[in-house]
Amino acid sequence: MSDPLLRVEDLHKSYGDETVLRGIDFELERGDVEILSGPSGSGKSTLLRCVNRLTEPDSGTIYLDGERVSGAGTDVNELRRQVGMVFQDFNLFLHLTAAENITLGLRRVKGLGKAEARERAMEHLDRVGLADQAGSYPAELSGGQKQRVGIARALAMDPKLMLFDEPTSALDPELVGEVTSVMRELADEGMTMLVVTHEMGFAREAASRMMFLDQGQIVERGPPEQLFQHPEQARTAEFLQRIT
Ligand code: ADP
Ligand code: MG
Repeated sequence: MSDPLLRVEDLHKSYGDETVLRGIDFELERGDVEILSGPSGSGKSTLLRCVNRLTEPDSGTIYLDGERVSGAGTDVNELRRQVGMVFQDFNLFLHLTAAENITLGLRRVKGLGKAEARERAMEHLDRVGLADQAGSYPAELSGGQKQRVGIARALAMDPKLMLFDEPTSALDPELVGEVTSVMRELADEGMTMLVVTHEMGFAREAASRMMFLDQGQIVERGPPEQLFQHPEQARTAEFLQRIT
């Protein structure tokens, strides 16, 4: 038996006297697409941020591909090379073009030369349908295009795992589909993904599993259809009814 791709063990995080994560345990196998759902403030973003160490957990252990990546003495930069993240508000550099947003990390983090970085950036822009926008600045792109650049930028680093934090929440409704379809293709290609989203259509169609987080704990986890149709917990049922 090989190691799971991601293993999170007994993760805890507090801010001051507010406890945000109270003992999170789960594993993702290679190719899993897992939806992380739950009310606002339940700790979803904090959990994702702990996985790539934008936030330091107070305790608990995280393993990526069998290697411990949490705690002192582990290489945060190496971890971030292997775990891509896509943010709700895109986090693009506004003074850089779409292509430059992608080449920056390839050059600085991956150490690629200019020509190779450019080639790799173009490949990934093409993959998300934006080859013709390589020279555009974020201000010249729609929200859906900006988010596709964000996805291309993360993918260009060749990650083992992709984290998405409400990637379509800032988009006008008519632009959601162009982003979820890129995510579906990625899922079909076998990328391992942990996705915070309220897009339950995407969950039903693309997710292998779904976990429901409330007050910093996983209260229920299973295949999406099980959580939608036969939730075991009243909190899950109530929340999913509200958002669907
Ligand atoms: P979600 O993404 O599910 O809405 P978050 O993980 O963003 O939840 O936040 C969970 C709780 O942690 C919230 O009460 C939020 O105010 C608090 N929190 C998150 N980040 C910080 C921070 N950097 N400093 C203080 N409190 C924070
Ligand atoms: Mg959040």
